[in-house]
Amino acid sequence: MLEDCLKQYFTFDSFRPGQKEIVQSILDGQDTVAILPTGGGKSLCYQLPALINNNLTLVVSPLIALMRDQVDALQARGIPATFINSSLSPEEMDERLQDVRDRSVQIAYVAPERFSSERFRRLLGEIRIGLFAVDEAHCISQWGHDFRPDYRLLGGQIASLKNRPTVAAFTATATPEVRDDIVAGLGLQNPQVHVRGFDRPNLYFFARPKLKERERQHEIVRLVRSIEGSGIVYALTRKHAEELAQFLNEQGISAVAYHAGLEKAERTRVQRAFMDNQFKVICATVAFGMGIDKADIRFVIHAGMPSTLEGYYQEAGRAGRDGERAYCILLQGGRDKSLHHFFINQSRFEMQDKGKPEREIESYLATKYRQLRAIEHYLERQGCRRRAILEYFGDEAISQLAENCKACDACINFQWQSESRDKALVEKHLEKKSDISDSILESAKLYQAGQTPDEIAKIRSLSVGTVFSHLLRWYAAGGDFKVEDYITPEEEKQVFAAMVRAGDLSRLTPIKEQLPDDFAWEKIKIVVAKVQRIRL
Ligand code: ADP
Ligand code: MG
Repeated sequence: MLEDCLKQYFTFDSFRPGQKEIVQSILDGQDTVAILPTGGGKSLCYQLPALINNNLTLVVSPLIALMRDQVDALQARGIPATFINSSLSPEEMDERLQDVRDRSVQIAYVAPERFSSERFRRLLGEIRIGLFAVDEAHCISQWGHDFRPDYRLLGGQIASLKNRPTVAAFTATATPEVRDDIVAGLGLQNPQVHVRGFDRPNLYFFARPKLKERERQHEIVRLVRSIEGSGIVYALTRKHAEELAQFLNEQGISAVAYHAGLEKAERTRVQRAFMDNQFKVICATVAFGMGIDKADIRFVIHAGMPSTLEGYYQEAGRAGRDGERAYCILLQGGRDKSLHHFFINQSRFEMQDKGKPEREIESYLATKYRQLRAIEHYLERQGCRRRAILEYFGDEAISQLAENCKACDACINFQWQSESRDKALVEKHLEKKSDISDSILESAKLYQAGQTPDEIAKIRSLSVGTVFSHLLRWYAAGGDFKVEDYITPEEEKQVFAAMVRAGDLSRLTPIKEQLPDDFAWEKIKIVVAKVQRIRL
């Protein structure tokens, strides 16, 4: 029984979710992709088969410091293990390579850089590896955030081994594109893919789309007041984090801001004070969270939509590490989406400037937009949010999920306090937007009745330019002005590039300066209106 081996080698009583299936799959000689969250217990999944099979296991791991810890822990359990990386002296290196060659170790950790060493590659030709385990396998993918070019060598190395070992890849990154890159990059053969451990039953999920900034601030105050204990409010920008902290303090809630713009000493001080419960709320950018281990965070509120569901879940998942009830609340603002659209387009121009091939750019952008749609879907869907998360990650536990999870806003039929939001979009903006004057409305009505801007100008005794700017204001507020009639996609791209170069969306002149002299102001205004419109 696998449980007996677990007890014998590791003194653990039971497997964590997914571990047993992964160990079994490796023992069966199947190539395997194992996706478990951080702390889910991935190491055991390749260590236990190594011990049961008594084969040599090679573990590729990118972090030298972690290698040492893992090897120490194994040796403390009486398991012969070693590591090979650049921290060794030449003598130590010789000795350890010899240990691997004559099998006096059972598990050898190596850094990916080793595979560019001629000597190490020779060694690979002489030994027989039973299991080739790739830890932090997302490093092979450009989508994995810590892309390591040396990981790209691994597929070729595996393919060139005389006796192909079982190959198993481990990561906490559960996005489909990373998974595909791992399978392709390592040349896995009919891999069994196991995704487990993403369900966090003690976390409650709430989400609210399309809030105005004031609504969002007040919602945060209401929420924070109603939840006992301390938590994180994530903002997309430093400025927003500062503003939120100030607003909360004005409302009598002790809050502090944290972001990469603070001095290092100040960051440490703020983090420590929060850990010591001196503040109820830390208003932070994503800079906050790496390596934070406050177990009793009772809420993580996002005052801004992250660009991926994966990123969202990672941040939200910092709540409730102690297993007690905690809340993950996503509050999307009207502007959040346009900010991401803007960043994505900006990366298009950056890639073009770097001379990347158009195909690569297109596929990059397509993935970015797909990721954005996934989190928007999470926000806007009607059904269970927990189900949506498990579905997105492909966690097998979804088959055991109750129809009603009883712990998300959809399943408990939570009613947000709010003004009615179901009025027709245009109508709403026409009514509420104070900068939409009666005069603009008049032009818009004529346009809706089928008049062209020229005709409207005649009817109203206005200049065409004025009518045009009316219609654009209306359009920016959600109106149905067909701007495509006045600008080509190519021109739009040109303006966008100019905007990025000008680095300022609020003033037209710097944008105009980046464009040919005869480029029409109207076209610039159209693109600006488009950006404003997405914000709604
Ligand atoms: P990961 O690499 O997935 O982030 P680790 O392999 O470092 O996680 O494991 C995290 C911790 O969980 C380690 O301290 C490990 O000893 C412990 N652990 C792993 N599996 C079990 C288990 N079945 N029962 C109890 N503790 C476990
Ligand atoms: Mg690990």
